This record gives sequence, structure tokens and C-alpha cells, in this order.
Amino acid sequence: MLDIKIEKAATLKAKPTDESKLGFGNIFTDHMFVMEYDAGIGWHDPRIVPYAPFPLDPACVVFHYAQEIFEGMKAYRTADNKIQLFRPDCNANRMNDSADRLCIPNIDPDDFVQAVKALVEVEKDWVPHSDGASLYLRPFTFATDVTLGVHASKKYTFCIIASPSGAYYAEGINPVRIYVEDDFIRAAPGLTGFTKCGGNYAASILAGDQAEKLGYAQVLWLDGVEKKYVEEVGSMNIMFKIDGEIYTAPCDGTVLPGVTRRSIIELCKDWGYTVHEEHVAIADIMKAGAEGRLEEVFGCGTAAVVSPVKELKWKDEVAYIGDGKIGELTQKLYDTLTGIQWGKIEDTKGWIVPVC
Ligand SMILES: *Cc1c(COP(=O)(O)O)cnc(C)c1O
Repeated sequence: MLDIKIEKAATLKAKPTDESKLGFGNIFTDHMFVMEYDAGIGWHDPRIVPYAPFPLDPACVVFHYAQEIFEGMKAYRTADNKIQLFRPDCNANRMNDSADRLCIPNIDPDDFVQAVKALVEVEKDWVPHSDGASLYLRPFTFATDVTLGVHASKKYTFCIIASPSGAYYAEGINPVRIYVEDDFIRAAPGLTGFTKCGGNYAASILAGDQAEKLGYAQVLWLDGVEKKYVEEVGSMNIMFKIDGEIYTAPCDGTVLPGVTRRSIIELCKDWGYTVHEEHVAIADIMKAGAEGRLEEVFGCGTAAVVSPVKELKWKDEVAYIGDGKIGELTQKLYDTLTGIQWGKIEDTKGWIVPVC
């Protein structure tokens, strides 16, 4: 249990009046949660303070060696004006898995959830009201030792910032075109693919930029060893429905274990689908596409919930999925998950954590 001190901002920013123009991650609320870690002391001084820049020494470890991890989650406003979170314990535990790999100290999962709830409660008026909009929450930890020596830092800052974000599908759910990346890789066994660390993203930007220039929304990453098996897309996991069964890459070190992914797997199993968490060759997926057996493809992650795919481009081959529209299962998953998250459907799973 953290003893969180709260220092309110003297003046509050004007809240956005047009929620349809929010976009993603562009504006930030009045406050942030902060605590520091020092070797020998542990995490200390948990507090909510006015949102402000950090004074950081130019020699801080994070600037040079990228010892940094983060999480991504949302607070949702229900029709009866309650504010709630979706499976925050999963984010807390995943952050510790990332922390272990990056030599960053763990945070007690109960303390993590307490900190998230405390910030959301202080910022509750910032949680958007319109359909599909939410308060995006970004917890992150970075190394603050002042040294150019390559060692695990002895000092860290943990922070949570909050950003009201618009509906991902403000213009309706439009299936996207995906470029299967056959040159760059995102992860390899023994590396950091299963963690949410800034370094993974830094290394992925170039491939994403190039795919975008070619007119694709995202890249689909293949395994880093043989470039043969599908792993995930940009910042989402990916699922394939072939001959009525669901396929997705296993979380065995190179794939980010998404909270949306595991929730979708649970729902699909509840609904009687066979779900295969296994290595699937891109060649087999393209073949299924050519034979008309590739029924649905969708990315899944907190930001979009699901993102239907209409086209996969791999080398000289193109696979077209369905009739270019969102698939039946993809739509049902979207409706169910958003229904639970925004409180329109009863949560029979124990996934919802109320804030206030
Ligand atoms: C965050 C993330 C995901 C999706 O995880 P969710 O918990 O569902 O939001 C998938 N892949 C990568 C690389 C990610 O960073």
C-alpha cells in the first residue's frame, strides 16, 4: 500500500471541448504520478504532482543506453458516469516481466494498480464522454543514474501520465493493408521482444516508415531467425481465422503478450472456437489466402481493440481477405470487448476494476 501525497495544480488547463479532435497522445492532463527508486531504499516518495518536465542530467543512463520500459492502458467512462479500468493487474505483472529483462526493479502489482487508480481519480474530469474515447494511461520507468558506464542503474523514476484520446475508429472501422516485412526483424530468441521497452520501438520505426510510404498501415513482423513464421504487427498482436479456427503466434519470448490478445483467446474459446497458439508459416497463410480459406485477419491491442486486415503483401504475393470488410468474428470481438470496457455489457469475467 503506497502512501500517495497529492499536490494539486494551482491552475487547471482548459479541457478539450471537441472530443472528436482528440487524436491519440497529443494532450496531457494536469497531473502525473511519480515515485523514485534508489538502491538500498527501494521505491519512495509516491506522489501526484502537477504535470511538468523532468530536470535530468545529460549523462542519465536512459539517454545513452535506453534502460526504459512502459505500459499502455485506458480508463473508460460508462453511460452512468462511472470510471473503470480493464485488467490493470495484467499491465502491472507485464511491467514487472519487462523490468526483469531490463534489470529494472519491480513494482508491487498492488501498488501499480493503486497508483493508476489514484491518478485516474484525480483526473476523472479528463476521462472523455463520447463513444469510443478514453483516457489513455502511460506508466513508464526509466534509469536516472548519472554515468556513462554500462551497468544497471541504481536509480529510477516511475511515472504515469494520462492523455485523453479520441475514438480509434472515428470514421468507422476500415480494414487496413499490411506489409509483411522480409528484411528487418523486430525480435529474436533471447532478445527483448516480449517486453514493452522503448528500444524495441526505436528499432522498428524505419520499417514502419518504409511500409507507410508504400501505402501500408503497418508491418507484419516475421520471426527473427528464419523470417518464416508470423509474429505480430507494429504495436499489436495478430490473429488469423483459417477454416473456422483461430491461429496466433505463441508468447514464447519474441512476441509481446498482449492483454487484448489473451482476452480475445479466452472469448474465442468460450464461444467454442479452436485457438492455436503456434508458429504459423507466412507461406501457409498466403496459400490459405489464395485458396479462399483465409476468412479473417485482425490485429489486436489496447489502442484499437481490433484492427481488421484486408490485404497482406509478402514479397511478390498479395492475399486479399474476405470481401475487404470487417469479418463477423472480428466485429463480434470488437463489440464484446468495447461493450465490457465501456460498461455496456455485463462483465462476467472479472476483468473490470472500478475507479470511481
Ligand atoms: C502493447 C503491445 C501489444 C498489445 O498489447 P495490449 O496489452 O493488448 O495493448 C502488442 N504488441 C506490441 C509490440 C506492443 O507493444
